[in-house]
Amino acid sequence: MAENLSHHARDLSDEDLEEIFDVRTIERGRGYSRDGRVESISDDDQIVARVRGNGRSYLVVIEDLDPFEGQCTCPVGHLCKHMVATLLVLGAGGDMGWRGLLTAITAQRRPNGISLGLGLGTRHDGVPLTPYRRSGEHWVKLPWPDLMNSSWQSTTDGLNGEQVAVLRHLHRTARRTRPWNSPSDILLSDLGAEAVSFLRQVASSGMTVLDPDMQAVELADDAWHVRLEIEGETDLTARPVAARPDGIRAYALPGVVPAIALSQGRIAPVDTAVPTQIHSMIAAKSSIHVDDADRLEFEADFIPALGGVELHSPDGSFSPTEFTEPRLHLHVTRAGPAFRLEWRQARRAAGHAEPLITDLGVRLDEDAAIVDTFWREAGLPSQGAIPAPRQIGPEHLGAFREVFVPALEEHGIGVTFGERGDITFVNSAPSSRSMRRASGIGSTSP
Ligand SMILES: [Zn+2]
Repeated sequence: MAENLSHHARDLSDEDLEEIFDVRTIERGRGYSRDGRVESISDDDQIVARVRGNGRSYLVVIEDLDPFEGQCTCPVGHLCKHMVATLLVLGAGGDMGWRGLLTAITAQRRPNGISLGLGLGTRHDGVPLTPYRRSGEHWVKLPWPDLMNSSWQSTTDGLNGEQVAVLRHLHRTARRTRPWNSPSDILLSDLGAEAVSFLRQVASSGMTVLDPDMQAVELADDAWHVRLEIEGETDLTARPVAARPDGIRAYALPGVVPAIALSQGRIAPVDTAVPTQIHSMIAAKSSIHVDDADRLEFEADFIPALGGVELHSPDGSFSPTEFTEPRLHLHVTRAGPAFRLEWRQARRAAGHAEPLITDLGVRLDEDAAIVDTFWREAGLPSQGAIPAPRQIGPEHLGAFREVFVPALEEHGIGVTFGERGDITFVNSAPSSRSMRRASGIGSTSP
């Protein structure tokens, strides 16, 4: 099948191209093919082409068309204008539909035609999208079926051609998410991660984005922050909210993930460096409940994992705990006749007697070096590097207890013993009974 890839390329319609590339890339690729920038094409078991860019030429390799697979050596690397130009030179998009689209795109340079608007139903889940056409001072609803019906030309006659093309492309993309739905029921959430880039296309085509009060909404250039609003003194309730750079709380569009927020006539994507789960929570207006027992772990591990999320306590009831730097921590459990040594990390939390012991979240190279030094000095058998667990047999318990553990504790590395892992319990030497039934790190017992 792959041997005739260029023949399949010839069969690609403009609609097929739109399934693969966005409208602007197709437009640019069209210019490239028209300017003769495709310098060579070969079709062995894949299409290989050289396309001249600005200053240098790029190598395009297309491996398959359905599903589309290919790479380009340009900075975009994938789904780029060089690929479009290659496919067009091979004869893709040669039908009337493509010419229709081209006409629509070139209409951009002749800014006649009735301007369109796109209404965002921001009060409803998923944000329904409704096209409008300008009529004097008013906006008149333009049903999606009228916009999509390309055979019945009169419904789009006189409308701005580029704007019609952008809305049609948006409609087709959204319909792919929920093809079983009514073609009139188009949601911003159907566009998923492409929602913002579609809104930018809508805006850059000169279309007006409208809120439910039919007021124009402007697209902000930068993504907005996420703030975690935390309340409570013991148990906590935390709610992620979108916030503009000036700190003003923004209203997240319901059900749209990644989150998009709206505030005072401006709309913006929410910082994408924040995990998707937080975007979902913002879109669903949901909150996190944290029991007092889990609070330290939440503060020490969950919050830092959120990246660029700022903390905020609207009622002032929450004050963040201060933690010391993590130190390596050793946890000993019984494994048959032997003992299993597992590496964890411990942090001291201000106002808490017990340290917070969790899985190793960071590399603790300095502490690992201390462990290895004293491991050797105690004459313990050489084993894998931290964080791999180690095992010691009963024959090494003496050195472990008398030399290794005290040396670690002296250097601030704590040791805890799990159930049946208490070494004093299995050791017969009576003098050790009173020693280090340690349950906390840095046990200072003599
Ligand atoms: Zn390229």
